[in-house]
Amino acid sequence: MIQYQSTRGSHIRKTAAQAVIAGIAEDKGLYVPERIPPLPFTWEKGMGLSYQQVAEKIIGAFFEDYSQEEIQECVNGAYDEKFESAEVVPVVNAGKGYFLELYHGKTAAFKDMALSILPYLLTTALEKEGETSKICILTATSGDTGKAALEGFADVLGTEIVVFYPNQGVSTVQERQMITQEGENTHVFSVRGNFDHAQTGVKEIFNDLNLRKELEQKNVKLSSANSINVGRLVPQVAYYVYGYLKLLQRGVLQPGEAVNVVVPTGNFGNILAAYYSHQMGVPVNRFICASNKNRVLTDFIQTGEYDVRRDFYLTNSPSMDILISSNLERLLFHLAKGDGQEVQCMMNELEREKHYRVNETIREGLSAFYGGSCTVEETNETIGRVYRQEGYLMDTHTAVAYKVYEEYVKETGDVTPTLIASTASAYKFADSVAESLGLPKEEDEFACIEAVNKTTGVPIPKGLQGLKEKPVRHNTVISVQEMKEAVRSSL
Ligand SMILES: *Cc1c(COP(=O)(O)O)cnc(C)c1O
Repeated sequence: MIQYQSTRGSHIRKTAAQAVIAGIAEDKGLYVPERIPPLPFTWEKGMGLSYQQVAEKIIGAFFEDYSQEEIQECVNGAYDEKFESAEVVPVVNAGKGYFLELYHGKTAAFKDMALSILPYLLTTALEKEGETSKICILTATSGDTGKAALEGFADVLGTEIVVFYPNQGVSTVQERQMITQEGENTHVFSVRGNFDHAQTGVKEIFNDLNLRKELEQKNVKLSSANSINVGRLVPQVAYYVYGYLKLLQRGVLQPGEAVNVVVPTGNFGNILAAYYSHQMGVPVNRFICASNKNRVLTDFIQTGEYDVRRDFYLTNSPSMDILISSNLERLLFHLAKGDGQEVQCMMNELEREKHYRVNETIREGLSAFYGGSCTVEETNETIGRVYRQEGYLMDTHTAVAYKVYEEYVKETGDVTPTLIASTASAYKFADSVAESLGLPKEEDEFACIEAVNKTTGVPIPKGLQGLKEKPVRHNTVISVQEMKEAVRSSL
């Protein structure tokens, strides 16, 4: 049975269920599977499977302590009519690539892929472990995770959910989605600062043993819905496998032929899932890691040095406005061939010196990745051009991915068929999209949604309709220092 271990070298092993409950390891590392399972089907069999069937088999292969029935219930509960596309993840050919549309869930961003199933995986885990404590989900969000987690956990028995979003950086639509959230167990706070401040605040709460003890006396345990939780990472592997199967089915690729994967990257969770799909057996030629002006990962991939001593920019792809990509730690662990001590050293250096350099072994492994970045102006130009030329409407994050992919092709001449992770509906970032399409300025983002809809005819996702009129339920603004107290007061 596959067990889960920390990236920082602790010898403690957990079952998948225990790792899902814990979120983060006791030595502050992230849980990773001891080994990556091989694909549980042949290409021939796989091609006939629905999204739900692929998800069931992939998640089941990683989470061996869950029974087949348990996994099936989780998958069926998550990937149902909540998704506005019957295929769940349509694969759409436009321009130079194949868009893996991950945004047809309730909150119109790819976070729904993992966060609609995490509550099921977690509540099943609690039952399996005979856990009687209440679980409090703590989440820092750059905009999309928060809403997707709130939707996933709203009124889920035995859970409370507390979301912190930065008051600088999230879009009007993202903020409105969160502050109108219904559900007795939902708590939302606006934190003065940017995403890294909010994320650091949450990490501090997790590492505050006194607070944890205090909560334990109230029979409450903390867990995380951030992409550090393996319960989020593993479900994301399924769509890369599914995307490859679709390209086989359409004859774009023959079994065994390689694909490229392009991912607009922030916390490195999504692209890490692509890497896991490759470790399972999906032939991937290159992982193309796309960043916006916060190009810490681009520089890292190019030089082997991770360096956060730089300015932080707010861009129009806010879910990627991140300097410290948590899930990179998992890749480092795998590339260091499981040397947790080495990872521990690098993470300590990052904390102390704000930069670190990887060793030769890791550097070699990194060559499977290509890093590129683009500016806000390039993002907008790409949205407008691709819409005019291809009739395909992208959101700002997907446009960053597309632009970096174009640069990659120019630089390398590589014609390998390519899956592009399409991570949000264009309507989630409607003001930038309207501007990119050359539409006149509107009074607010909601008017932009209408204007983009009128021009393109692309349907507005259900979750974004009527948002302006919905009553606000959460309106507390706090400082980073007040986050602990906010958790106390929520419970
Ligand atoms: C979260 C998010 C990303 C970044 O994904 P990571 O897994 O954090 O790298 C990209 N685009 C959108 C729209 C997102 O919500």
